[in-house]
Amino acid sequence: MNRIYLDNAATTKLHEEVLNEMMPYLTDNFGNASSVHSFGRDARLGIDKARDRIAKALGASSAEIYFTSGGTEADNWALKGIAEAYSAKGKHIITSAIEHHAVLHTCAYLEKRGFRVTYLPVDEKGKINLDELKNAICDDTILISIMFANNEIGTIQPIEEIGAIAREKDVIFHTDAVQAVGNVKIYLKDSNIDLLSLSGHKIHGPKGVVSLYIRKCVKIAPFMHGGAHERNRRAGTENTAGIVGLGKALEIAAAGINAKTAALVKQRDKLIDTLLEQIPESILNGDRVDRLPGNVNICYKYIEGASLLINLDMKGIAASSGSACTSGSLDPSHVLLAIGLDHGTAHGSLRLSLGEDISDEDIDYVIKTIKETVQKLREWSPLFAAKEGGIKNV
Ligand code: PLP
Repeated sequence: MNRIYLDNAATTKLHEEVLNEMMPYLTDNFGNASSVHSFGRDARLGIDKARDRIAKALGASSAEIYFTSGGTEADNWALKGIAEAYSAKGKHIITSAIEHHAVLHTCAYLEKRGFRVTYLPVDEKGKINLDELKNAICDDTILISIMFANNEIGTIQPIEEIGAIAREKDVIFHTDAVQAVGNVKIYLKDSNIDLLSLSGHKIHGPKGVVSLYIRKCVKIAPFMHGGAHERNRRAGTENTAGIVGLGKALEIAAAGINAKTAALVKQRDKLIDTLLEQIPESILNGDRVDRLPGNVNICYKYIEGASLLINLDMKGIAASSGSACTSGSLDPSHVLLAIGLDHGTAHGSLRLSLGEDISDEDIDYVIKTIKETVQKLREWSPLFAAKEGGIKNV
């Protein structure tokens, strides 16, 4: 059976060129980058090159790029590190209701340690309101953390405007750009972003390695304590092969961003338009325009997203409902509830996140299969039967 992978927001396949670049650091160049001998120096050169590549791709300076073990660690470090470093200035943090749990659960942790957190609501498209952001800023606000693009519904926030507000009020601005980097052009020198989390495994790089951009003038407390790695800011022997892979993956993604975006947007829009047109009682989640190029998120009324996923998987289509981190849970997604959906509707969500290797024939097969599967599940659904006034085909 032809398998079609539509879960690129969860993770992506390693790019062949990335693997080739990593391979020497998994074999002959296995040294510890802190060692003074030639094995160590080779590893250090690989890490330095990756740092330069990431800085170039993002319009930052190499000294502003730090490596961590994942998006979760980068977000934890950004929030806890800023909270600790600026706690004498204030104890108020602003975020949004639809952040990834890596941010939301870190905020909950900080609340238990005496910080105040404002969770900005979002509108039905998933965007924060800039006036509400301005009004939420107090004298003791030290940090605004708003994600660049949402991992479930794909909505892209007005990052430039948020950054301008933060800068005007002298508040540090962190953005979780794990889903945006490689999909949306980002040039940090011209931005008001002070910290930015980016991930490699969402852009055909390896898992377990991430970069946190920290603007030069920003103070941050270390999160991992130990050796003097990463200029005394993040202790632990570097994952050399992973870092090399992340650098290469971002270089490839940045070079091909225009072509990738154009191709994904075309397929995304065909999926959205056709699925909405051909399947009644379906709702598009997220903003139609300010949206990640590869994101489709639709709720189908009267059915369970989980049943839809299993049925699609049996037909070779790998998709997701909600985010990968929460899809094992029976609770509806906090993002879908925050945009105003009721529990029943939120349970019927399907996220398709496209990648570069999907053909137009694949898209046609996906449309046909979703249509047939939704129809079949609705025929079995007591909720749908009640709505139609009788049970059918059971
Ligand atoms: N932030 C966002 C927006 C994400 O989508 C993810 C993962 O999907 C993370 C943070 C956490 O990244 P990781 O699972 O690599 O630690």
